[in-house]
Amino acid sequence: MAWRTQLFKQTFACLENDKSPLGVVGIPMDYTGSYKPGSRFAPQRIRDSACNIELYSLFTGIFLEDIGFKDYGDVILPPGDIEGSLEKIKLVMRNIIEEHSGLLLVLGGEHLITYPVVEVIKDKIDELVIFDAHLDARSEYLGSKLNHATFLRRLLDEGVNVIHIGSRAYSRDEYEYVSSRDNIKVINVLEAFKNIKLEDLGRVYISIDMDVFDPSIAPGVSNPEPFGLSHYVLLSILRELFEKSTSVIGVDVVEVNPLVDVNGETSVLAAKLLIEVSGLYLAKKSFK
Ligand code: MN
Ligand code: MN
Repeated sequence: MAWRTQLFKQTFACLENDKSPLGVVGIPMDYTGSYKPGSRFAPQRIRDSACNIELYSLFTGIFLEDIGFKDYGDVILPPGDIEGSLEKIKLVMRNIIEEHSGLLLVLGGEHLITYPVVEVIKDKIDELVIFDAHLDARSEYLGSKLNHATFLRRLLDEGVNVIHIGSRAYSRDEYEYVSSRDNIKVINVLEAFKNIKLEDLGRVYISIDMDVFDPSIAPGVSNPEPFGLSHYVLLSILRELFEKSTSVIGVDVVEVNPLVDVNGETSVLAAKLLIEVSGLYLAKKSFK
């Protein structure tokens, strides 16, 4: 299957640059969501938000308008077909990872999209860093083994090393499972509010479930969970992550749900977050 024909062309931030080190791909999948569907509309809405804000990274002082983005488009998925969609995502991601040498920004979709992405890159990373209110590590959910609430269990079973930040909602089953594993370090939301210092990390992929934020600042998510992180805490942890890792290969932003958002606040927060992440990536590159 020719992989490029599996993508629907889009332009992140209305600023295309084929040579940009900042790659973008959208994965508009949301059919294992158990509460509020709608995250399939997030890639387009996040792009639209990015077109309507300044492309300036406050934390690094970098103007991204000089750099632009190489947007691969949205993966075209077979509706309702979970296995078929995961295969399609893997096919496209394998090829993009091979072609693109810079940072890859992945726009979800539900959190299950992180599973096929990490499957493709797991030999290229030392650590998967997840920001999420939830562990997503149930053995199964409502009779299904592969969905947004179980994907991390699958990756942990496969031996992927995980740092999990910002959690505050657990089922007993997943809490006990996670506590028994030595390939996951959980920094819950109370610990995350203290000034986190991380040890040196190798190559990293970061996954941001937008419900890690407090619902008062990110209302448009499928599974809102009170007592969440503030932007500044999350950004300072991101800065620490970029500082301590040898490289960051990609960052996904998942679970934005435009259908339950308020005034597009969550989409614009996701866009802004990606601009700061891009700034952190470029700043780190220029130091080396
Ligand atoms: Mn999640
Ligand atoms: Mn979550």
